[in-house]
Formats: sequence, C-alpha cells, structure tokens
Amino acid sequence: MATTVLDHWVSGAAFAGASTRTAPVYDPARGVVQREVRLASTADVDHAVKAAAAAFPAWSEASWNKRQAVLFSFREILNARKEELAAILTSEHGKVTPDALGEIARGIEVVEFACGIPHLAKGEYTENASTGVDVYSVRQALGVVGIISPFNFPAMVPMWFFPIAIALGNTVVLKPSEKDPSASIWMAEAMKEAGLPDGVLNVVHGDKEAVDALLTHPEVASISFVGSTPIAKYVYETGTASGKRVQALGGAKNHMLVLPDADLDLVADSAVNAGFGSAGERCMAISVVVAVGDIADDLIPKIVERMATLKVGDGTRGCDMGPLITKEHRDKVAGYLDVAATDGAEIVVDGRGIAVDGEADGFWLGPTLIDKVPTTSDVYTHEIFGPVLSVVRVATYEEGLALINGSPYGNGTAIFTNDGGAARRFQREATVGMIGINVPIPVPVGYYSFGGWKDSLFGDTKAYGPDAIHFFTRQKAITSRWLDPSHGGINLGFPTN
Ligand code: NAD
Repeated sequence: MATTVLDHWVSGAAFAGASTRTAPVYDPARGVVQREVRLASTADVDHAVKAAAAAFPAWSEASWNKRQAVLFSFREILNARKEELAAILTSEHGKVTPDALGEIARGIEVVEFACGIPHLAKGEYTENASTGVDVYSVRQALGVVGIISPFNFPAMVPMWFFPIAIALGNTVVLKPSEKDPSASIWMAEAMKEAGLPDGVLNVVHGDKEAVDALLTHPEVASISFVGSTPIAKYVYETGTASGKRVQALGGAKNHMLVLPDADLDLVADSAVNAGFGSAGERCMAISVVVAVGDIADDLIPKIVERMATLKVGDGTRGCDMGPLITKEHRDKVAGYLDVAATDGAEIVVDGRGIAVDGEADGFWLGPTLIDKVPTTSDVYTHEIFGPVLSVVRVATYEEGLALINGSPYGNGTAIFTNDGGAARRFQREATVGMIGINVPIPVPVGYYSFGGWKDSLFGDTKAYGPDAIHFFTRQKAITSRWLDPSHGGINLGFPTN
C-alpha cells in the first residue's frame, strides 16, 4: 500500500511545496510508519509567510465581532467532533483516548478565553491629562506570527497560541512537530469551516530548515515556541537576533515535595497520575518525588501497589498508558535504567519488557520507579520525558527546597502537606513558575498564563491568559488635543502637565 504524504496548509488549501524531503509519521502503538509528512524548504516557508502577510490587512481590519464569531464556531466544531481529533492524537502520539480528550478540553479553554478577547484587549483612556488634552492607548495586531510546537501536545499547544493571536487580528504560520503533524491540519480545516478567511492560519510542516526560515524571515513579527530547552534557547537567541519578539518555553524536571504530614494515599495517587499519565511525556509531569524525613518507606509501597494496576497498551483499548513517541525515544528513556543501576540507585519497578495490550512492535516502556536516586546521576539531572519516576530522600523541608531551587529548570512543582504555613512558605520560596499545593500538575486555567522560570522559559512572556494579549499586540499611546479657545502660543520647553 502506498504511503500517503501529508501536505502543508496554505491559503486555505493543501499545499505540496517544492521540497522533496519527507519524514515518517509513526503509529507508535504498532511501531509502523503510517504516513510521510513533507518537510518544508525555506522557499515553502516563504510562500506560507507571504500568504499570511497578504491576509493580514483585511483580517486586522475585521471587527472584533467578526473575529470572535469564527472562534465561537471553532469551539462548537471542537466540541461536536472532539472524538475525531482525539483519534488523530492517539494514532500519531499514542496517548490514550481519555487523555487525548483531556488535551482537547484544555485547548478549548483557551479558545473560550479568546472568544472574550475584545474585553481584555481594550485600551485605557485618561481625560484631561493636561487641560484639554486626553491620553489613551490602543492595542494593535503585530502582523504575521510564527508558532512552533512540540510533539507531546499536538492539539493543545498550538491552541495555546493561534486562537488568541487570530482573535487579536494577527495572521499565523504554524509549524507543528513533524512527529504528529495531522492534528494541526485538522484544526486548520476546522477553522476554515468556522469561517476563517484563507491565509489567516497556515500550517507548514518541517524540521530545522523550516524553523530557521521562520526565525529569520523579515515578515514574521514574533515567534511562540514550545519544546526542549536547548532548542528553546536557540530559538530565542536566533529569533531575537532577527528583531522578533520571542517567547520560548523549554523543558522541565518537576519535583513533588512531600512533607511527613501529607496524606500518603493522596500523594501516591498524585505521583502515579502525574508521573505516568501520557507516558510521562508531559512538560508538567512529575519526575521526582522528594520525600522528607523517612516517609519514603511508607510511600513507596503505596505507589508500587497503584503502579501494579496500570494497564499499558494501545490507546484505543481502554488502557491507562500508551506507548512512547518513537523507538529512539523509548530506547533513550529505557537507557536511564542502566544509568540508574550504574549510579547505585534502586530500581523498584522496572518497566522494560512488560506485557502490553497492543502490538509487539509498539514503542513500549512500562511505568518505572527508581528509589534513592543520587542527585549527581543523569537520572536526576536530565529531563527523561518518559514513564520514569525517581524518588530522592531528604532530611528536611529546606534540603528539599534547595534541590528544587538548584535545578536549572523551573517549570512546575508541587508540595504535599496538611500544613498551611509550610505550603505558603513553599509557594513564596520556590523559584518555579507554576506551583501546586496538594495538586500535582498545576497547569493554570486559560485565564491565567502558563510558563516556567529559568531554563523552562526564555523571554519574559508566558503562554495564553493575560500575557498573550501583551505578546500578540503592540500598544500605542495617543495624546490628543482638539482645538479650543485656549490653544496656541509658542513654547519650546518639554511638554509637562
Ligand atoms: P523539540 O525541542 O525536539 O521540538 C520542538 C519543536 O522544535 C518541533 O517543532 C521541532 O520540529 C523543532 N525542532 C527540533 N529540533 C530542532 C532544531 N535543531 N532546530 C530548530 N527546530 C527544531 O521538543 P519535542 O521533543 O517535540 O517536545 C518535548 C519537549 O518539549 C520536552 O523537553 C518538554 O518538556 C518540552 N515541552 C515544554 C512545554 C512547556 O510548556 N514548557 C510544553 C510541552 C513540551
């Protein structure tokens, strides 16, 4: 059977482009290539940017109501056909159906936020800043904005950005992950069906060549990137050197600090959910449990007991956890078990070679638990991005906090305790962008912004929420005087009030 090739989407239609390069898109639960995806050349990206630039004047002039109407319709389509999109996510990413639906629900939250954007994008007005002089501000769209997204949330992460950018009057070139690119095409088609004019949302598939073309294109005003830290740093530096505003969200190593007074059943449930959901391929996954005092001895059996109930397999078969994204990634993650053994850690549950409800060639690795992980080990210092949960034992709250604050990452963290004073202290002292208190994955709701600190975010602007209004617009301040009888006169001094 001939393998189909997924096209780009430009000016409201499929676009093949001139590049002949392609990449395989796997079905990770079967371990087979299910289609190829085109990898855009610089010229292909230029074609998409030109289409977005051509659509910008009319779209930015469209009324707020007209733009909102598209987003309201898009929301209806998402709600009515979410199973269709979820099936695409499961087929190319591997995540289980309920998790795919959860991803879509969190994307819809941002669409809903974008539906209310006229209120949030309003300017300010000061009457009589000087006598007879009014000062006011407006926010205007940037132009063509670039979005580059990772493999792990093929629907939600693009939706963190494009609904808001579009609602504010920008036009978009989206470069999704080449590993699971079909969700972006589905969403672009749905936006067209929702009434979006051609050229406002374009999708180019590709790898470094396409990313570089976006980062340096003179007609691209901004870049919103989500991915691993080394690429986020590169994107930030290259994009800003080209004069663009850039928000680049990077990798993570999220710790869960467990105080001795915590409810250990809640902690065990939370550690398992946040450690192994989506096979640990979430930037907000918990990868390290930091157990204070000697609670690890009581906590670990509770975690192990819950891990034994997890069903791993094909995401469409009612399993709890699916495969990893590629064979290379699965092998890399599994390699950390060898590192753990060499470094003297204790492998409590080994996910290699587990029985799965799925095809033998799928990219499987079962839930894995490693205790007594030395903080000098790569198992602790690297972002593993798989179903591997580490336990680090510390004596005090201070020692645990120092570990968290010593990490180069600062995406999310959580404290589990029944002591309000300790929780309050933690929320203030942790140098991390998103904090959970008895909540393991503290992804902020759509009307707060999402983003980490330190190497988890380059730039000063988080994703969605209020930060997005700032990021996707330029503010203009206007000082206005209409002639009245008191006007006139020469005065070369600097204007004062
Ligand atoms: P990745 O960095 O490999 O890829 C992200 C994007 O960059 C993709 O579109 C990819 O095509 C492109 N890219 C890859 N290599 C490139 C290169 N050399 N030059 C230019 N562009 C390149 O990330 P991934 O593996 O797709 O996603 C997983 C990573 O994303 C993890 O590190 C995870 O923590 C992170 N992530 C972070 C957040 C967050 O909000 N902070 C959210 C989701 C994922």
